[in-house]
Amino acid sequence: MSAAKRSLVLFLLGTTIVWILLLSLSLSIPVVAQDKSVVVDTSAPWVTLLCKVADISDEPHTFDYYEGIFAENYPGLIAYWREVSGNDSLARGSKIFGWYTLPRAQSEYTNTHQIVEDCIHRADQDVHYPDYFAINVFFNDPRWYGAGAGSFLQELDGVKRYWAYTAIPPVASYAPAIVAHEMGHIYQMAHTLVNNEQYRSSWGIMGDTLAVCQYSTGNENGCIPMHPIAYNKKLAGWIPGEKIFQFNIATPTTIDLTSVAHSSTQGFMMVEIPLDDAGLEYYTLEARRRVGYDRNIPAEGVILHRVNRTTGFIGAELVSGNDTPPYIEQALWIPGESHRDFENNVSICVNHATETGFTITVSPAVNAGCESAAQFSSAGSSNQVQQTDTGQLITYSLRLTNTGSLAESTSISVTIPDGTAYVQNSAYTSSGTVTFADGALIFTVDDVAFGTSLDTSFSTTVSGTDDTKPLFVGLVWLIKWTNGTHTIETPLILNASEIYLPEVLNRY
Ligand SMILES: [Zn+2]
Repeated sequence: MSAAKRSLVLFLLGTTIVWILLLSLSLSIPVVAQDKSVVVDTSAPWVTLLCKVADISDEPHTFDYYEGIFAENYPGLIAYWREVSGNDSLARGSKIFGWYTLPRAQSEYTNTHQIVEDCIHRADQDVHYPDYFAINVFFNDPRWYGAGAGSFLQELDGVKRYWAYTAIPPVASYAPAIVAHEMGHIYQMAHTLVNNEQYRSSWGIMGDTLAVCQYSTGNENGCIPMHPIAYNKKLAGWIPGEKIFQFNIATPTTIDLTSVAHSSTQGFMMVEIPLDDAGLEYYTLEARRRVGYDRNIPAEGVILHRVNRTTGFIGAELVSGNDTPPYIEQALWIPGESHRDFENNVSICVNHATETGFTITVSPAVNAGCESAAQFSSAGSSNQVQQTDTGQLITYSLRLTNTGSLAESTSISVTIPDGTAYVQNSAYTSSGTVTFADGALIFTVDDVAFGTSLDTSFSTTVSGTDDTKPLFVGLVWLIKWTNGTHTIETPLILNASEIYLPEVLNRY
């Protein structure tokens, strides 16, 4: 197989404008080593170097700061790549060296490649390069706004090969997401397109890398990378074949799709839907949930990419329902939504969320509808057994979350159990209204969208019963919406302290 020429883009971080500077290098598409190509070892350590030009002594950050960027715990980049790859030992032995003073002054460097090369030689006294797969170079020359990835042919410590590197200028060193983007290139990842543009997709580090910054929260380093898209992980060799569902369009199929951030979980993590006989054009489907390094993604749902390897471009293109950035809602399929491609006779429907992803149905477009329904999961005091005495206050609460498609005209009704009395005005709902009549509460909440949670609660007192034996009563929450119903039962036992002892006494 021949090595493919590909351009890696250095983007220049201005205030809001992004300029592009091109560096070209040869990387092989397969993960296997080729002549004149970078050897990709997706478990090997990296070495990180800090270098300053001879006439500027400023160090943009302390050594500790860079150790923080590459930490083995969230939000560090070693932890990031371990989660992304599903390999707990990836990058074991990675090290940071610096700050080194470069042999030349700022004005003598006309590009960042020269800085990188000098930095690598300057650190050679401390670094045995064959121990490492790739080299990250942070430098202090403020003239450069572009971060980049590249490689150069060189003999280092007796080994002549192409050495892959990233080059990170001071202005970009605040954002681990940028470093992850450049490292992603070294792991064979190409930019994700959307409407033929780069740096626009809101999904994955190889799209609009800095978009993640606005979603990152609570981290002093900021701009924590989200996961790469499933297709890029597959190219890096991080999604094994048994986790990729190869869909046969002739047979409607429903499967559970685990999110890309649940890499240690069993099950399918990616779906490929062939669009030609040669296997060069296909859709990829992946689920995105707010977990791990995807905790700050803009929304949860299923995203779809189209790959076309007949063009020579190895990246994927995000499928979006409109032409306007930032490509979030229109590129995201949630329960009840479907993508129908009549040209290729394929339909994709998202049914409902699961614990770790989404259930989807793929079928021929001609006979497909999206048969998704609302689906409620619940949490709260719903499974407690109450041990009660007369006059005791019991408060019930229920959190309902719709993990399926839109529930229209939703209401919840509860009949107050025998032996208890409703405490007037104690009912609460986080949405809609509540009424009490004829011994029953009715919460009227109207539409409940996918992912929406609804909290309700109310109180009763135990009104007492002449019966000294345990009284088993159930409290039933009846949820109704236009196309369905769902019940949740809260067990309740009055006089529970009498449950066992009378039985014993009666026998003897
Ligand atoms: Zn790039």
